[in-house]
Amino acid sequence: MDDLPAFRQAARAWLEQNCPPEMRTAAAGDDDICWGGRKVRFRSDAQRVWLERMAEKGWTVPEWPVEYGGGGLSRAQADVLREEMRALGCRAPLQSFGIWMLGPALLAYGTEEQKRRHLPPIARGEIRWCQGYSEPNAGSDLASLQTRAEDRGDHYVVNGQKVWTSYADQADWVFCLVRTDPAARKHEGISFVLFDMDTPGVSTRPITLISGKSPFCETFFDDVRVEKSNLVGTPNRGWTIAKYLLTHERDMIGAMGERASPPALGAFAAGAIGLDRDGRLDDPALRADAARFEIDELAFRLTLERAGELAGAGRAHAGFSSVLKYYGAELNKRRYELLMACAGSDGLEWEGARSGDGQLARSWLRSKANSIEGGTSEIQLNVIAKRILDLPGA
Ligand SMILES: Cc1cc2nc3c(=O)[nH]c(=O)nc-3n(C[C@H](O)[C@H](O)[C@H](O)COP(=O)(O)OP(=O)(O)OC[C@H]3O[C@@H](n4cnc5c(N)ncnc54)[C@H](O)[C@@H]3O)c2cc1C
Repeated sequence: MDDLPAFRQAARAWLEQNCPPEMRTAAAGDDDICWGGRKVRFRSDAQRVWLERMAEKGWTVPEWPVEYGGGGLSRAQADVLREEMRALGCRAPLQSFGIWMLGPALLAYGTEEQKRRHLPPIARGEIRWCQGYSEPNAGSDLASLQTRAEDRGDHYVVNGQKVWTSYADQADWVFCLVRTDPAARKHEGISFVLFDMDTPGVSTRPITLISGKSPFCETFFDDVRVEKSNLVGTPNRGWTIAKYLLTHERDMIGAMGERASPPALGAFAAGAIGLDRDGRLDDPALRADAARFEIDELAFRLTLERAGELAGAGRAHAGFSSVLKYYGAELNKRRYELLMACAGSDGLEWEGARSGDGQLARSWLRSKANSIEGGTSEIQLNVIAKRILDLPGA
């Protein structure tokens, strides 16, 4: 048994000593988040030092094995660490598709050599990854993807196009689904490969979003050489890995609203609307909506905890990530609708100090994408109907 009280004490003492005061505040918008990678530009020394210290300790990925750059903590210890970080207001030192998506897939399906090569640089924030799944005609129906990888003996030659590749222009490497057997049934001719975005033949073109940002790209592959040592798993059996990775992506998106430290609704509403003589929000309709939201959010947090514990015990339902993704995305959209309702016309300001450079309006618009990215809400409902509820005809 872990000695959890002793671990809690040691973790708290270490965090108090090592987390710079500047890193004990929520990130001030997207540009203040550390994603690491070869092109990283730290916003401050404190941000760099915080990443270095946490990486050294293995706590950017507390539950990964020590030999792959992790902290080797048990699930219970990692939960304690998260609680202590939350209590001190420590922000995550690193956000990373490598941590949330590729890492778990490599731990499950990678060779020993692939794990030793790719996991430690992810843990240290040295290599930033993007996800090459979606294509112009393969979104919800992902298995229709047409990007081809031709077998040339010791390597593949990849040709095709991906779309909506988040941060492709910032990423160092891509984990990518390619068709290696065009004659096979669509789920059976797909392979999962990794390659450097600096490989000749890879190019990206940013796509601008309604929020004014451009976090994702069209990505083109023209005769890109990919060594066979960068194939994960078995040729033509990449769909299994793709689906496994998607469950981690869905868990990550479902919990996004909880992790991203959005403005606390109660305090924000009180500041924007004011309180009545009894100290209640001075708008009965919004008060009821806010109370309903906060109760639902609390219940969702407990559900996330329960799901984590079941996963740790190896008893999670394989389709449950769709429940978390569906509900977390809808909840986060509700959060921003309410914040905007509280802010009134001020919330619509796009620029200027009073509106924090439109941060609220931009986050509100960005939240609309939560029910599309990582598989749409309709697709999650289909999965829930089929795999969890076992509904007739689903
Ligand atoms: C912010 C953001 C970031 C993203 N980042 C990445 C990334 O990094 N890498 C990547 O590969 N992709 C990424 N995506 C793409 C994302 O995975 C796709 O947008 C998503 O899977 C939906 O595919 P689509 O856009 O082609 O829509 P479509 O599949 O064309 O769907 C259109 C509409 O039809 C509905 N629909 C489709 N099929 C069904 C069905 N069988 N039953 C019921 N309704 C259905 C959908 O729910 C949707 O409302 C990102 C998307 C967003 C919004």
